[in-house]
Order: sequence, then structure tokens, then C-alpha cells
Amino acid sequence: MPEHIPLSPSSRPTISIVAPVYNEEAILHELYKRVSETLETLGEPWELVLVNDGSWDRSYEIMLELRQQDPRVHIVNFSRNFGHQIAITAGMDYAQGQAVVIIDADLQDPPSVILEMVDKWREGYDVVYAIRRERKGETRFKLWTAKMFYRIINKITGVNIPLDTGDFRLLDRKAVDALRQIREHHRFMRGLSVWIGFRQTGVTYVREERFAGETKYPLSKMLRFAMDGITSFSYLPLQFATYVGFVIAGLSVLGILLTIILRLSGSQAFYGQATTLVMVLFLGGIQLISLGIIGEYLGRIYDEVKNRPLYIVDEAVGFEQRDTGPTYQ
Ligand code: UDP
Ligand code: MG
Repeated sequence: MPEHIPLSPSSRPTISIVAPVYNEEAILHELYKRVSETLETLGEPWELVLVNDGSWDRSYEIMLELRQQDPRVHIVNFSRNFGHQIAITAGMDYAQGQAVVIIDADLQDPPSVILEMVDKWREGYDVVYAIRRERKGETRFKLWTAKMFYRIINKITGVNIPLDTGDFRLLDRKAVDALRQIREHHRFMRGLSVWIGFRQTGVTYVREERFAGETKYPLSKMLRFAMDGITSFSYLPLQFATYVGFVIAGLSVLGILLTIILRLSGSQAFYGQATTLVMVLFLGGIQLISLGIIGEYLGRIYDEVKNRPLYIVDEAVGFEQRDTGPTYQ
């Protein structure tokens, strides 16, 4: 890991806003408008880092247009789609602010909340996460699964992720630099940003509906994301086979005793193939599940040992003067 290379203070904005973008052409103008309006009220230098995560619509052209109008817009253009969490990571690698705010591009996270976050930051907090008081425009299925997921992950892992938070948060430079040292591939940023410690607090907000377009998180991606969250912070699934093994072994001893008693008393109960078949299928199922769980971890270990860079940048626009980004890979 190369060391952090500090820049001359003059080139550093106070606040960097990082937004991952995947096919959000209908939103970018409005995002820029709302972010700039909000930040102008602060009266501090700021930048907007847009990470284009392999969009195949007009997102990138629109980003370039925005940059033409306002050079405080900086663009990291990925060579392909690397995923939301990686896009956030790249944004943090490139952002130069004293504080970095991660925000969804789709305006579900209202930029006005940034002002409250900055207030908390000025009070001395290093991480200010946004807690959803209410979520508009989400299906009941999504709300329920999200709720269950965070309850489970907090039970079985060592990190305590505040309930009802997403990636919308402000991070002090200290916290950003800590996160940038973590180069694991299956990144669960909202867990990692708790894991790093420092002084943390939350502000509540109402999560809006998507401004336009559709969610880029279909169920399959959500499941992957959930698995990444659990596997990066817990070994419990790996111990599943052990626990189930003990329970079944215990039951089988009871079964043996029961069979002996039944036979000695002349009973014909539990004769025949059905019982055997059911037991074999049951055990086979448990064994396959256990193997699958080992596979999940093994695959992730494999991804780590390959040690590929987290992302490939096609073009980074507006960072010419800076020593940042890929040097940290
Ligand atoms: N996103 C991304 N890469 C992806 C998927 C999503 O950069 O592969 C971005 C997307 O453009 C948005 C943010 O991540 O700014 C959150 O995605 P989305 O709004 O679709 O998720 P949801 O809010 O529905 O959970
Ligand atoms: Mg969204």
C-alpha cells in the first residue's frame, strides 16, 4: 500500500460529494443542481466526484457537459460496471475533501441533509451516517427484507451497523483514509465504516422516492450484497455444519436407543425403507448446504488471493493536478 500523498492545501476542497452512477441519465442534471444549491449555502470550497460505473446510457456525456459548466465536477470513468460498493470506493480514493459525503445519485438521499451532517462534523464527529426515518416508494418486500437483514447481521457479527442506514454518510478525512487502506474485494462499506471506529453519530431523514429511472439492485444483486455483508464480518455460517452435526449426532444416539427398545419389546415400528430414505435425503441436503457455505467463503478467499485491482479506470477527468486514485490500488 503506497502511503497517502498529501496535496498542497490550496487545492483541497472542504467537502467532496461522491456519487456512484450507473445509467442515471435522467437524474444527473437535477443531482448537480440540488447538490450545488445546497453546498453554495455553506460558503466553503467543494467538489462533486461522479463515478461512472460502466453506464451504457448518456450518463458519461452528461457528466462531461456538467464539467464544462462547472469545473468543480470531477469524473472517474470506469472501464466497465464494477458495482456500487466499488464505485463508492473509487470515489473516496479520488476525493480530496476534508470531509467526504457518499450519496446515491438517484436523489433518494436528499442533498439538503448534507447540511445537518456538516453541522455534526463541525461538532467533532468523524462519521455521520443518515438514518432513514421513513422510506418512500419502496416495496413492502424490500422494507421487510432490509429490516430482517440488519437485525440478523447485527446479531451474528461483531460490528453493530446502526439500523436503517445505507451508504449515505459523511466521513472525515481520517475516516476516509482509514477506509482507503482496506482493499478487500467484497466490500460492505456500511459495515466497514463502522468497523473503523472513530466518533460516530447519526442524523435522521426521510428517504425519498427515486427521482427517475429504476432501481439498479434487482433481487439477485441484493442477495449477493447480503452475502458479502455476512461473510465479511462473520464466521457463523462456517460453523453451521458443526452445530447441525452435533444436534443430528445427538438425535441419532436417541434413535439407536429407541430402536433397541422397540425391537426388544417386539414392535414393528420404523421398519422399511421410507425412514432410511428420508434420513439420507435430509443428511445429504445438510451436507450440500454446508459445502455450499464453505464454497461461498472459498470463492471470496480466491478473489482476495488473486489480488486484482478493485477497479480499472478508463479516464479520470479533473484530477490531472492530483496524486490520487489508482496509486492506492
Ligand atoms: N449503482 C452503481 N453501480 C451499480 C448499481 C448501482 O453505481 O452496479 C448506483 C446507482 O446509480 C445509484 C446507487 O448506486 O446511484 C444506488 O443504486 P439504486 O438506487 O439502484 O439502489 P436502491 O436505492 O434501489 O437500493
Ligand atoms: Mg436508489
